[in-house]
Amino acid sequence: MNALIALLHFCEVHGPCVVYCTQTIHQTHTLSEADLNIPALKSMPLETETAPLPPIRKNSLSNTPQKISPGACAACTAQLPLVNTGQIVTEAKSLFTLDQDDASIKYIGTKSPQQNHLYKAVRLACVRSLTAEFCQGRDGPVLFGDDENGYVMSYMFKLRDSQARGEARFYSLMMLMTDRVYLISCWPFLVRSMALNLQERANIVFQKEKEGSRHQSITRRTPISSQDPFFRRKSNTALRSLVDLLGVKDIYAQIQAQFSYTLKLSSRKRMEKLCMGRTESPVYKRMPVNTLQSVQVAAQLARRVVSDAGHGTILTQMHGTEFDEFPFGLLEYYSDKCTDNGNLLLFMSSLQMSTRNMHANSEKVGFTINALKEYNPPYRNHSTPVQQPRFTLFGNIKSVPESKSEEAMSCFSQTHPEAKPWKSFHDFRFYEFQVQGMYYVGGFGGTNYIGWIPAHIYHDAHPRKLLVQNENQ
Ligand SMILES: [Zn+2]
Repeated sequence: MNALIALLHFCEVHGPCVVYCTQTIHQTHTLSEADLNIPALKSMPLETETAPLPPIRKNSLSNTPQKISPGACAACTAQLPLVNTGQIVTEAKSLFTLDQDDASIKYIGTKSPQQNHLYKAVRLACVRSLTAEFCQGRDGPVLFGDDENGYVMSYMFKLRDSQARGEARFYSLMMLMTDRVYLISCWPFLVRSMALNLQERANIVFQKEKEGSRHQSITRRTPISSQDPFFRRKSNTALRSLVDLLGVKDIYAQIQAQFSYTLKLSSRKRMEKLCMGRTESPVYKRMPVNTLQSVQVAAQLARRVVSDAGHGTILTQMHGTEFDEFPFGLLEYYSDKCTDNGNLLLFMSSLQMSTRNMHANSEKVGFTINALKEYNPPYRNHSTPVQQPRFTLFGNIKSVPESKSEEAMSCFSQTHPEAKPWKSFHDFRFYEFQVQGMYYVGGFGGTNYIGWIPAHIYHDAHPRKLLVQNENQ
């Protein structure tokens, strides 16, 4: 089941309703370059309705179209940004967010889930979380569900509205997914980053309106006792949208960005579980796997270390000496600037012991690289090599054709300019170390990933695209 996050509302007139929801979509096709240039987590209108522009309520802050259909009230539905298609201005049908780390993933935000089965599940969860589930004071989280149909975590909260019954409107942030542990762990984020944020904004508008009405009653000299003591909503007052309630025009674009970010993190957590599944192999079983730092972040950090270091230890098996089959390691230069997949370009002499060994067994070669600077914050004010990333790459060696040696030298010398004169020595030639997997130690366990990184995750990681917030993980 796809993970989904929704904003729910208990409308005074229409009861529990789904206002806005964001879900993860895995695309089968690759996005075009133009799409990829759009910054991640930036919400963009995707499709637009082709219907002509509906009438606009003039005195509304949102200036969003008000639909005439009786089922849609401003409180029950999201007001998405207006889009100018060149001929007409219409409300965007959906918002989408691209995932910068994975072009096949999109987070689509709509007024209700697109798939029928999800629509039913969300609708049921909405009614249940806003009416049936008990939460003391109506503010707080509830969790329900089962392993088969997925779990729902709903955080209910009030927003103050001077025009609403009881001067409060009831909302809920709901997440639907199969991973119960993640749901529980992310509720503080939903509360701190989203619910409290919305409440603060609503309070500012509420205070302003209260002061305004107090000022009006003083200037009109209306006695205080004439105010409605039950804070009832006047029947002729239309229910306000969330946009008007908070005084934020692009509130749904902001909600979309936060929902997408939460879904993105949740998918990372789920991928970590997949990596744990590799314990079927007896080799993996023995290796401790730290789950606090994701394997993707570890791969990005590894690629950055590879990119920065420029030299490491090549590991080969001895051949043709009295120490046959013993492991042999020696410092070796490499460059990763010639490919974008993290494979290493080596420039080695046939006279070297490592080269002779690797010619005897080119399919089983290792390369150990240690961080040469600090990537993790100091531990108790000290920074030592053992708390910094280091790893061994496993792979095979392929000779670079002579016809490509000029090209190879031009990028190898970017990393090692001192190697340029070596090309006049006839025993030197280029080899490509093709990475097939790696074992990674990110530093101290507990905060850093320690374990295997599959080759495809290493190859796909971008050394310079590590998210800033992940560096502290
Ligand atoms: Zn309504």
